[in-house]
Amino acid sequence: MQLSIIDLTTELAEQLKPKSLTPQKYCSSLPLGSTRNCLDPWTQLFVTATGGVRPCCNAPKFGEVFDRPLFAWMNSPEIKEYRRGLLSGSLMPACENCHDRPTISIDELRAKVSAVVAGTAPVTVPQPS
Ligand code: SF4
Repeated sequence: MQLSIIDLTTELAEQLKPKSLTPQKYCSSLPLGSTRNCLDPWTQLFVTATGGVRPCCNAPKFGEVFDRPLFAWMNSPEIKEYRRGLLSGSLMPACENCHDRPTISIDELRAKVSAVVAGTAPVTVPQPS
């Protein structure tokens, strides 16, 4: 299965709808209205030497690389959960405790994601604060 940029844009539009701003699912230690300044679940897939798949080097493994094509992993329910968490502030535990990405307002991250997915901004990697 191969998804086009239109599929990704449609998915992003769905994620950016106000309904995705649900109350925080996990007990977040981040200030209300904030999230992590992280584009990793949209821009990369981390594969360990033993074949484990993660959205980044900090998150736990959620599958094996040969279980699905790489493109399917990039659009898997597991990675979408990380995206939803970052866009809503309802962070996955790995993101909440992440020391590699500083905090940012949800609105700022949503604008960055929109620009990167639209191809109007480069992917930048924020440094830890
Ligand atoms: S754990 Fe950190 S680097 Fe990984 S997706 Fe979450 S915020 Fe990004």
